[in-house]
Amino acid sequence: MSEVCPSHDPTPLLTARESQTKPALHVVRPQERPRRLLLCLDGVPFEVVSEAKSRGMFDNFKEPARLLSPFPTLTNVALAEMLGATPPNGYESLYFDREAKELRGGVRKYIGRRTPDKVPSSYMDELDYQEPLAFEFLIYVATEAVWRADMRRFRERFLSAPPARDFFGFLKATDGLLHIGGPARLAVALESLDKLLREIQRAAGSETEVVLFSDHGMNLVENRRLHLQSYLARNGYEVVGNMRRPRGKMRVSAPAFGLCGYAALYCGEETDRGELAEGLRQLEGVDFSVYRDEDDQTAVVKGASGRARIHRAERGGETFYRYEQLGGDPLRLAPAVHTLGAEGRLDAEGFARDADWLARTWGHTYPDALANVYGSVFAPRVRHTADVLVSLRDGYYYGATSFSRMVRLLATHGNALRSSSHAFLMSTHRTFPTHVRSTEARPVLRG
Ligand SMILES: [Zn+2]
Repeated sequence: MSEVCPSHDPTPLLTARESQTKPALHVVRPQERPRRLLLCLDGVPFEVVSEAKSRGMFDNFKEPARLLSPFPTLTNVALAEMLGATPPNGYESLYFDREAKELRGGVRKYIGRRTPDKVPSSYMDELDYQEPLAFEFLIYVATEAVWRADMRRFRERFLSAPPARDFFGFLKATDGLLHIGGPARLAVALESLDKLLREIQRAAGSETEVVLFSDHGMNLVENRRLHLQSYLARNGYEVVGNMRRPRGKMRVSAPAFGLCGYAALYCGEETDRGELAEGLRQLEGVDFSVYRDEDDQTAVVKGASGRARIHRAERGGETFYRYEQLGGDPLRLAPAVHTLGAEGRLDAEGFARDADWLARTWGHTYPDALANVYGSVFAPRVRHTADVLVSLRDGYYYGATSFSRMVRLLATHGNALRSSSHAFLMSTHRTFPTHVRSTEARPVLRG
């Protein structure tokens, strides 16, 4: 099996293959707007589309916006949030179930009948097209052939769809092309997509709006393995697959699946989150770790360059954030704090409006850092939220050794850095603002 990326979760494919009836959740198109073809390209970064556009491709589209992908930047996490759908069980198809206290899913999900626990998120119900199951496996050995077949099937499906209804397609081959082939390979694929979309628009009529977007971005550097499990073992932790009974050691579960730039850690009751995050500051490849402090409902961030605490407050229906540096500046927000202070936007306690933070940090090294990183441990982005979420530096991944032996990873995603967080969004009919948060994407995509 040559799975390298969690976006290649077999579950949605089983869903698509088995459901011959029309999905129940179709949005009824209001009469006052044109028909819409909504097409998601898995893992295509804003920078790549922007650069392609500057070379004359996609010139029938307006300028692309940055769609801010939530941390950890993974397909099911991102699409569930962008489409306002139910959160998936875990970050990937292998996940830790907090109630059962054990690892669930993983390769077992590839086998057997579709049961409710195998449906990761309700956004799947909205898809009119996604690639057949066999493609998931073939993408890494026959990338070009799979891409061409994927596009051909999408084209056929769209052209035979009822012309009065919106159509939502999801092309996943782009993610595999980037992971394995790098940006040069993807550029060739985008050229053929550009041609196909022009043909489709000619066939559907220029009044049909085409909206193209991605779920997350990708770093475009070669990535090497983070030696997380051996590091934990050396530092007195026991890495376990279940926590049903104590073993006298500090237990940590660290599901290893796709080769991505993050790790989700689950702690036994004897394991202290803060100590675990503190220790990880020393591990090469770790950028920062974040966990929730239950006592004061803050998110604590610990990285190689220091520690900080993110405070959130609600006042009069408005959300405020405060970045409290506890020595160092792990999210590199000191300049933003300074600017907000100079503009008089910080109150006596150091809180500023969420909107002010967003306006100053959407293009930051960690886009929309406070709301995004805080939300990663407080918002229900998945059902089984990790105790400690680790964001890796670009150039590092964590995942299953069986996958990593098979591939050279020319790009990956998963961390909270800009290259993975800046997905894109563009339309043939509408011009969007410079940036759109994932939580605000649904009305733009489907409204
Ligand atoms: Zn991927």
